[in-house]
Amino acid sequence: MAAGCRFPYGEAMRRIVEGVRRFQREIFPQKQDLFRRLAGGQAPRVLLVTCGDSRIVPDLLMQTEPGELFICRNAGNIVPAYGASTGGVSATIEYAVVALGIRHLIVCGHSDCGAMKGILYPDTLRAMPTVAAWLRHADAARHVVEALYPDRPEAEKLELLARENVLAQLANLLTHPAVAARLVGGTLDVYGWYYEIGTGAVLAWDGASNRFVPLEAGEQVPRASPRPRGVEA
Ligand code: ZN
Repeated sequence: MAAGCRFPYGEAMRRIVEGVRRFQREIFPQKQDLFRRLAGGQAPRVLLVTCGDSRIVPDLLMQTEPGELFICRNAGNIVPAYGASTGGVSATIEYAVVALGIRHLIVCGHSDCGAMKGILYPDTLRAMPTVAAWLRHADAARHVVEALYPDRPEAEKLELLARENVLAQLANLLTHPAVAARLVGGTLDVYGWYYEIGTGAVLAWDGASNRFVPLEAGEQVPRASPRPRGVEA
C-alpha cells in the first residue's frame, strides 16, 4: 500500500502515476523551453467546448501543444443560455472571451455520446436527477430531431441528435453578452463540429451552406458565425 493512500493502488492508478513519472522524465525535458515560456502565462487563441467523454482527447485529435487550447468540458458539450444557469460553463466561456481574448470558439459533439443517449432514453436518467436537469439545456435539439427525423432508426437518431445538439449549443452561446459583442464586431468566430470516434472523421457546420461538411485542411474553415454587422458578403 502506498503511503498516504487508504487503498492499495489499482491498475488504473498505477498506470496514471507511471504516466506522470514518464512525462516528467522523458517528455518534460524535450519541451522544457515551451513549459518555461508557459510558466509565466497563457495566450490560447481557441476555446474548445466538448464532452467529458474519455474517448475525446483534444490534443491528440487536433495535434495541439500545451497552451494552445482553452478547454471547457461537460456532459453533452452543453452551453446553458445566458441567465439560465450561472455555472462553471458560463464563467469559463466569459473568462476565455473577455480575459483571454480568444479568437475562435469550437463546440464539438461526438458519436456514441452517453448524454445524447440520456436525452433519447430519459428513463435511463431516473437515478441521475442532476444529469436530467442538465440535459434540459439540450431540449431544443431533441425537439428538432423529433420534428425533422421522426421515423429514422434509433442509431441514426442518436447521431443526428449529437449534431443538432452542437447547433443548439451554438445558439445558446450567442445569448452570452460577451460572445454576442465579439461576434458582432467580427473579432470572434464560432465553429460547430461533430467527431466520429470509430473513424476519426470530423464534420464541421458550414453556416454558408447550412449543412455539416467534412473538415478539410485549407484556407476556408467552415464557420458557424453569423456575419459581423456592416461587413459586406
Ligand atoms: Zn458525450
